[in-house]
Amino acid sequence: MPFYDYQCKSCGKRARLQFSYSEYGKVQPVCPHCRSQQMKRHISRVALAKSEDAQLDSMVDADMSGLDENDPLTLGKFMRNMSRNGEDIGDRFNEVVDRLESGESPDAIEQSMPDLAGGAGALPDV
Ligand SMILES: [Zn+2]
Repeated sequence: MPFYDYQCKSCGKRARLQFSYSEYGKVQPVCPHCRSQQMKRHISRVALAKSEDAQLDSMVDADMSGLDENDPLTLGKFMRNMSRNGEDIGDRFNEVVDRLESGESPDAIEQSMPDLAGGAGALPDV
């Protein structure tokens, strides 16, 4: 069964609850710490990393809220993920922009960079 991460609005603690897919959305999550039913779904970084749009959102809120600055292990992982993601987006973006500026057609660029087609990084409309 999948796990779902929640944050309790009453006591602020996080809880990982387990529901089956059919239970999820029907069963009211209850805080195991204070028994409150004011549980807010907490989306994990892993889920957010699936799309670049969501990645940007995650930098704004979810990532920072999950960050424990007293835990070097968590902090290091966070920094590494962020820099790696930024690099990937930047390199690809820069290459596309360079080639567009030098007069190549978007179609030709897309054909020479197969990972662009159908991937998360769509070509900008020109
Ligand atoms: Zn609670």
